[in-house]
Amino acid sequence: MSYQALYRVWRPQSFEDVVGQSHITRTLQNAIVQEKFSHAYLFSGPRGTGKTSAAKIFAKTINCRQAPTAEPCNSCDACLGIQDGSISDVMEIDAASNNGVEQIRDIRDKVKYAPSSVAYKVYIIDEVHMLSPGAFNALLKTLEEPPKHVVFILATTEPHKIPLTIISRCQRFDLKRITQQDIVARMETIVEKESISITKEALHVVALAAEGGMRDALSILDQAISYSDDQVELADVLAVTGSVSQQKLIEMILALFNKDAQQALQLVDGFIQSGKDPGRFVYDSIYFLRDILMYQSAPQLDILDRAMVDEDFRHLCETLHANWIQKTISILNDCQQEMKWTNSPKVFLEITVLKITEQSPQPMEGNTVEPESVTQLLKKVDLLEKELKALKQNNVSHDAQQTQQATQKRRQPTTKRQYKVPYERIRYVLEHASKSDLKNVQSQWANFMQLLKKQNAPAHATVQESKPSAASEEALILAFKYEIHCSLALEHQQTIELLLSEVTGKNVTIIPIPEVNWLEIRQEYVQKQRQQQSADSNEEEEIDPVVEEARKLVGDDLLEIHEE
Ligand SMILES: [Zn+2]
Repeated sequence: MSYQALYRVWRPQSFEDVVGQSHITRTLQNAIVQEKFSHAYLFSGPRGTGKTSAAKIFAKTINCRQAPTAEPCNSCDACLGIQDGSISDVMEIDAASNNGVEQIRDIRDKVKYAPSSVAYKVYIIDEVHMLSPGAFNALLKTLEEPPKHVVFILATTEPHKIPLTIISRCQRFDLKRITQQDIVARMETIVEKESISITKEALHVVALAAEGGMRDALSILDQAISYSDDQVELADVLAVTGSVSQQKLIEMILALFNKDAQQALQLVDGFIQSGKDPGRFVYDSIYFLRDILMYQSAPQLDILDRAMVDEDFRHLCETLHANWIQKTISILNDCQQEMKWTNSPKVFLEITVLKITEQSPQPMEGNTVEPESVTQLLKKVDLLEKELKALKQNNVSHDAQQTQQATQKRRQPTTKRQYKVPYERIRYVLEHASKSDLKNVQSQWANFMQLLKKQNAPAHATVQESKPSAASEEALILAFKYEIHCSLALEHQQTIELLLSEVTGKNVTIIPIPEVNWLEIRQEYVQKQRQQQSADSNEEEEIDPVVEEARKLVGDDLLEIHEE
């Protein structure tokens, strides 16, 4: 027996088989059962969403010997005859191949005759937007006064190309792209009945590549089956669709996020070399980033299109910030539009990579002021003024020397895109820090984190990477394991500070600092304290470890660094 394509074998035979369009099938079924259906329908929607299948099921249902019924019986002579095309009262016309006026004139002439073997003549005109203006005119004449025994079902992917005079005479239904979940669920039924062995990941990638079309999903599945050996693996589907694996997508997105243009371009080159499709890559990336956004805001919901949730994915979600993702999606979207009109998609992809890696720095990177509330700004100005005053009061020459040393030390490895540690602000906070302020925050920290988790998952994910390390009346220093989380924390600054003031009853400004820099500034602070003390006594220096000394001078809690 010759092999039959899955999409032919599994073409829906009843309304209940039409996947993901229940908003339409239910309405149609109600009209059919009540015998109040229209004589002209327009089904519009993307390819492969079930327009002509629904039209054919409609034709069977109204002509079924069991009528009125909500579903065709699929076993009477009418149903079977319509199914195999032997009943000439139901005609399928492909306007893309028969766009002549003649064909429609022919319909117009014959439409007045009663059907020969079933109750209704049904004309299904697929891709109706392809009809010539003359044919549209001829069709319009017929639609103006259709005989009672005739139903027209016009199907199109491009309803905007159809004259309004035609549209206004039809009852219009817009079929939706079928969701990933619906496509996967339908394919699961099919592979089970066909005894096809395929992994869940592979099915998901098929569904994504189908872009909401069931017919495309099944033909991709067909290709993957013939490409694979026994079991259809993810790799088979990736090869057939020209998609990139999740692992590679993660690598690429991290390279973009870290502004590592070189690595990103190398990855692009690798994709193209291995035969991946640049357009498909951009499409996959957009959906993948969308999934990250979804997961960040609602991790418990099962609404991911592209991503498989694993350790790497979770880590990526914690690393990326929503703001960056949104900007990147918008750049990728522009790229997708431009790619449609070019013969060299690779060049566009490369330009896009550069655009993304050169995106303006994240807000609050460095000491730039980003849009925030007036209160926040006032607080900051206030703090800066105090800082300035404190600096003036201090022993200028001594302090300046220290500062200069520290500045030189830390400037060496930095690039302009790194998070700029506000050293002066932190020094100022340290001068005014107290054990009780820190204890106050620490005692409420678990409670605060719990509330933050409920209120803002991405902010929580970021702050989780930090420890309250010193506190004054006005500020809280948060030491972060990774530098990247410092800028991320500032993007959530307002949320964090508002909630903190609710929980602790104090208005504090948060100051993020990478742990490594915190260790450095703490040491500097301790040395300064020691120098001051040794000026008073003749105590020998360099005997005790620095941290030990610090503990004697200012207590454990103020200098708490969590090296778990
Ligand atoms: Zn029937």
